[in-house]
Amino acid sequence: MSNSSKRILVTGGAGFIGSHLIDRLMAEGHEVICLDNFFTGRKHNLVHWLDNHNFELVRHDITEPIRLEVDRIYHLACPASPVHYQYNPVKTIKTNVMGTLNMLGLAKRVKARFLLASTSEVYGDPEVHPQPETYRGNVNTIGIRSCYDEGKRVAETLAFDYHRQNNVDIRVARIFNTYGPRMLENDGRVVSNFAVQALRGIPLTVYGDGSQTRSFCFVSDLVDGLMKLMEGDCLGPVNLGNPDEYTILELAQKIQAMVNPEAAIQFKPLPQDDPRRRQPDISLAKARLGWSPTVPLAEGLKRTVEDFQQRIEGVSPLVAAS
Ligand code: NAD
Ligand code: UDP
Repeated sequence: MSNSSKRILVTGGAGFIGSHLIDRLMAEGHEVICLDNFFTGRKHNLVHWLDNHNFELVRHDITEPIRLEVDRIYHLACPASPVHYQYNPVKTIKTNVMGTLNMLGLAKRVKARFLLASTSEVYGDPEVHPQPETYRGNVNTIGIRSCYDEGKRVAETLAFDYHRQNNVDIRVARIFNTYGPRMLENDGRVVSNFAVQALRGIPLTVYGDGSQTRSFCFVSDLVDGLMKLMEGDCLGPVNLGNPDEYTILELAQKIQAMVNPEAAIQFKPLPQDDPRRRQPDISLAKARLGWSPTVPLAEGLKRTVEDFQQRIEGVSPLVAAS
């Protein structure tokens, strides 16, 4: 290992974003420990590192304390898809509150720098558009999304209180909708649902009339932003996302055209408290981290669909590729 290499803990490292982050950290020659309870993560995402002496995979639930010696903590453990975080909402809150407390306690004890993967969901159903970090949000404290939204808001509070009270060196990223290879086929989020549905030739399920908007960031861009934030001097919170905004119906039509023009679009009821629109203001990330996303939606979608295509058996090849 080189002198600049560090021992880095990634919680939730077997999940979608965490496993891509680990790929980058390992490629840079760091020693990486991944903690995961495999709720939405898979060992398969890390199988290529299992024999590497710089890598350690530990099955552990972060709601329980753990003692480790590390220099950096990327704290990502928490289900991110509404389907999964609403499956056991009390557990989601425990993960965000007790889990974040445990990881901040660890950071305090070993003087590790701690990065929290927070979310655009702290803005709730935003009344300000696009959303800058100074916007304080519009979250329903008793709704079905609040186990996640309020959980992350408390996690941010904990991070800043540990910083003020105990001098813990923190970084807080507010991550906007991110997509890419390795999302679960049953993840339930919109890009994976539409890609899997189009590949299987079943209707693409648009919730509501599809006029709600989201802004989609490809995972390699996001990981780049997380690493810049961790190694820079800006504590945050910093928005990390791609400001390229689409209605959900536009996204369905793009994926339909790219993968399977025969697949129908089916409208389903809009879930409770579904945010009407979402777009990051990334001025702060540009100014303080020198970061902005580079992968356009069409290219990111192509790479994502190809990954699903390899995993789903018995599907016809990409129409666009034929
Ligand atoms: P994911 O569900 O793929 O990964 C989460 C990982 O955390 C999984 O491997 C899961 O098994 C693990 N985990 C969950 N609860 C745990 C617990 N109690 N103990 C140990 N491990 C646990 O989700 P993702 O998309 O990779 O998101 C990673 C992080 O980024 C999450 O904190 C999420 O809130 C945040 N985030 C993601 C997005 C996005 O669009 N993907 C947007 C905003 C914020
Ligand atoms: N959505 C949809 N069809 C799906 C899954 C999601 O129309 O099969 C919509 C959902 O109602 C929301 C948007 O797509 O308006 C993004 O949903 P996702 O669960 O991906 O993320 P979040 O709501 O957390 O941004």
